[in-house]
Amino acid sequence: MSKQNLAEILPGATLGVLGGGQLGRMFCVAARTLGYHVIVLDPDEGSPAGRIADEHIKANYLDEAALDLLASRCDAVTTEFENVPAESLRYLAKNTRVSPSADALEVAQNRDSEKRYALKAGLTPAPYYFIQSEADINKAIAAIDVPAILKSATLGYDGKGQVVINQLEELLPAYESMNRVDCVLEKKIELALEISVIVARNARGEAVSYPIAENEHRNGILHQSAVPARVDESVAEKARQQAIDLAESMDYVGILAVEFFISGEGELLFNEMAPRTHNSGHYTKDACVTSQFEQQVRMMCGLKPGETRLISPVVMVNMLGDLWDPDWRALLAHPEIKLHLYGKKEARPGRKMGHFNVLADDVEQALAVAKMAFEELEP
Ligand code: ATP
Ligand code: MG
Repeated sequence: MSKQNLAEILPGATLGVLGGGQLGRMFCVAARTLGYHVIVLDPDEGSPAGRIADEHIKANYLDEAALDLLASRCDAVTTEFENVPAESLRYLAKNTRVSPSADALEVAQNRDSEKRYALKAGLTPAPYYFIQSEADINKAIAAIDVPAILKSATLGYDGKGQVVINQLEELLPAYESMNRVDCVLEKKIELALEISVIVARNARGEAVSYPIAENEHRNGILHQSAVPARVDESVAEKARQQAIDLAESMDYVGILAVEFFISGEGELLFNEMAPRTHNSGHYTKDACVTSQFEQQVRMMCGLKPGETRLISPVVMVNMLGDLWDPDWRALLAHPEIKLHLYGKKEARPGRKMGHFNVLADDVEQALAVAKMAFEELEP
């Protein structure tokens, strides 16, 4: 790594972000709060981040003229969108500082490669088999017990691109229904709990992790995260250490989110990683000394990681388009609730429109208020 990459980039500089969704929007707010200028590159005219950045370059991620412009204007560039083509980052990196790297992004974009990296770093994925052609179907059946889940190796999110396999005969038709794209067949785990860890690491190798979040999904989409998670301190410590080990083994720079399962037997299993800030880390905005978005700024600028300490027990609840158009009065009448809306014009079922954080003296109380407030919003 060149010396130049270790220099600190200070307020007043210009930062770029590929992707204009809510994660980019919250990044823009954090960066601008710290006194940086922000440029968003996203093809969508009304993107949540583009609308509040200093500048919005409306272009496709592979548009070289747009990437040239971004690189010439920015002291550093990051991404908020995991499926940005890795080539875009590789191209940008010729002319500006880029984190995470194209190589790291590529690893995280593929379920087979991310599991291989996790194994190498000492983490334990659920048993799986990588299917690249029909010839692998029988080998996968021999290797993995049902029930299992067939997942497309790339481009899955919010539980999309996944089929549960209860009988062996279902595998080939499911593979065909996915147009025979590369897939992993993964053993379906009896889940006691799902947790996630956000890690931040800079180019000098300084790394920190956040308190783990206990995640509840509904219909394959994150519904809420509770912190502190109700797990043994030893499991929490192990998850935080494993997430840091993973970031170190990849020489990762930026924010890395690591999702884990805790099985019925109490085993800690690696699920997947995201090379960016994460929905389960939105609690950090109101409940930690440094939010994950400020931390993203710090990491790309080569600054020292901010303190990750939890200031208050917290529950983060997602608000999807299914709830629209909510009456905000009830929610805002709760003095311990912090509302965050993403400024998306169109509400669609399953679309993430905003979230709220409930702060309380303990997590049980935060969970109770979160449940009540969510029910008040439901149509
Ligand atoms: P997201 O982008 O929301 O994190 P995703 O589409 O990338 O989701 P996964 O994290 O792989 O998908 O799976 C989504 C959810 O499905 C998990 O959080 C978990 O609840 C369930 N799930 C996935 N894999 C397994 C498994 N092997 N055993 C049991 N449950 C699973
Ligand atoms: Mg996931």
